[in-house]
This record gives sequence, structure tokens and C-alpha cells, in this order.
Amino acid sequence: MSEEEKIPGGAKRRAKVVGLFSGGLDSLLSAHLMMDQGAEILLLHFLMPWQTVEEDGRDVTKRAEELGLPLEFIHLDRDYIAMLKDPPHGYGKNMNPCIDCHIFMFRRAGERMEEMGWDLVFTGEVVGERPMSQRKPILNLIEREAGLVGRLLRSLSAKLLTETVAEKEGLIERDKLLAIEGRSRKPQMELAEEYGISEYSSPAGGCLLTDPAFSKRVRESFEWGEDTPRHFKLLRLGRHFRLPGGAKVVVGRNQGENERISELAQVGDMLLDPVGVMGPTVLLGKEGGISENVETAASLCARYSDGSVDIDVQVRRKGEEGVEVVVGRQLESDVIENLRI
Ligand code: SF4
Repeated sequence: MSEEEKIPGGAKRRAKVVGLFSGGLDSLLSAHLMMDQGAEILLLHFLMPWQTVEEDGRDVTKRAEELGLPLEFIHLDRDYIAMLKDPPHGYGKNMNPCIDCHIFMFRRAGERMEEMGWDLVFTGEVVGERPMSQRKPILNLIEREAGLVGRLLRSLSAKLLTETVAEKEGLIERDKLLAIEGRSRKPQMELAEEYGISEYSSPAGGCLLTDPAFSKRVRESFEWGEDTPRHFKLLRLGRHFRLPGGAKVVVGRNQGENERISELAQVGDMLLDPVGVMGPTVLLGKEGGISENVETAASLCARYSDGSVDIDVQVRRKGEEGVEVVVGRQLESDVIENLRI
């Protein structure tokens, strides 16, 4: 331990801690508790395979800036998707593999901690707050399977849990940690008032894997072997259809989605746009580019355009010159519903 590492007036060095940070109230409070310990802190925010820093990172960045703490983003990608296909501890109500998701993220956070030679990982989890993943035996299982025994501090509930190594070594004062338990948010609200926290994100409702409609899309996508981060980015956009033969069609719902769908299209994919009327950009994967599919994709474009009769639809292949115009015929609603995912 070097002299510089000592806290002024104290006998110990500062604890160096890595925190999982969603920007939600619990994570903000846990960061405050670590600041009260005089710890050196790095916040980590995990981005799901369908998320980007530009689209999803603004709020959490603001929260970290307000705390004056450094923040790193970690993208969950192919490895996470592989876990999502077959989570060892199963799914929740929808496609949310909460136990394995926690293990996955905590393991990653632990790797970051090891890389830097730091002391522990902290989180804002509260014992008993959520029915499944925050029961005490499950918290212990997650700690074990993430390889963080003795190195994972749930600061809001720490006094209800086994002491960590950093507490035993005196780097973290156990007395300053809390013993919050259960689903009532009252203690957290009171604490928020003490710390002067008035704004925080609401990440609990933000996980798309807990959404039935998104989960249905994920399941269907896996059945067709569509399992890259790009596929996942498309899953959160537009209306989705599966054509006979397996081609996938994605139809934008607004200007922002139309632009994003065009960006996410790969070279060779077909992009369709209505001519002369307002309407959606439609993506038809290159593997599905036979004329019958193009006709159906053009009809879907017509269906969601402002045109009430058949319309012209322009078709281009991404990355290639040249545009073809085909007729987008209005389809019966039941035909469309049969194709909808
Ligand atoms: S709600 Fe979503 S992000 Fe949270 S643990 Fe479950 S799967 Fe992971």
C-alpha cells in the first residue's frame, strides 16, 4: 500500500469498486453509498444486443455525470445471445432469463474488476425486491456462479448478507451499509430525499425481454436461425412478417424507423419505398428476393402507406445502382394477419 493510496487521516487505502449502473434509483443509491465510503468508483452500464449508446445511453450518461463518476458501456452481443437461446436457469414469464442474465453481467463486471486489479463489484440489488432473481438463495447462487464469492457487495442490503472481503479488510465500513429488504420502495424514497435525488431512470420496465410481443419475435427469430446482434436490432423496430418459404419482411412505422431499417439493411437486401405517397420503408432480406416475395413486400408497403388503392413501389438492392418499380397491391386484412409475426 503506497502512501498516496491512504485516505487522509486514515490507516487504510481507498477501496476501488466497480458498480453495475442502470441509472435507476437503486443503482444511484448504491453509488452514493460507495461515495460515502470514499471509494474510487467506475460505473458499468450494460447494453443489450439491440441497444446502442446513441439510442439508449443518453439517460444513464446524464445520471453518471450528475454523480461526477466515470461510466463505461459494455455491449452484450453474441455470447449473450447464445446464453439467451438456452439459459441454464430458465426463463421468467417471457424470454427474460433473469438469473443467467445477472450471472452473465456480473461475470463481465468481475472480469473488468480483475483487469484493473480492483477490490469488488457492487450493485443496487435489494433482497426480496423481485420475486425471482432477488431472493437470498438466488443472490448467493448468482454470486457463486459469477465467480464473485466475497467480492460482490449489494450495498443496500449488505447487512443482511455475508460480509465481503473488502468489509473484512476494513476497506469498506459495514456500519455505513444498509439492510433494506422487500418490495416496499419507501426506504429507497426516503434515502433519495436525503441524497437530494429527484431524477432517475426507470430501467425495470425497460427490458424488452420481459415484453410478451418482443419475446414472441425473439422466439420466432431463433426458430429461423436469425440470431445476430443485427437481427436483434431489427426486432425492436417496425412490424414483422414471415413470408411462405421463410423470408422475413420488416415494415417501418415512422420516419425514424424507416431510416434505421435502411441503415441496418445489409448489402444485397431489398429496400422498398412507396412512390408518390407517404408510407413505410420495407426490408426484404436478400435471401428472400424472389419475385413472388417482392410482390408481397410491395403489397405490405402499400397496405401501410397513405394510398388506399394499388400504388407504385420502388425497389432497390442496398449497395447496388438501379431501381425497379413494381405495383403494390392492396391485400386483404386476413392475408396480412396470416403473415404477421
Ligand atoms: S429484466 Fe432483462 S435485463 Fe433485467 S435481469 Fe431480467 S433479462 Fe436481464
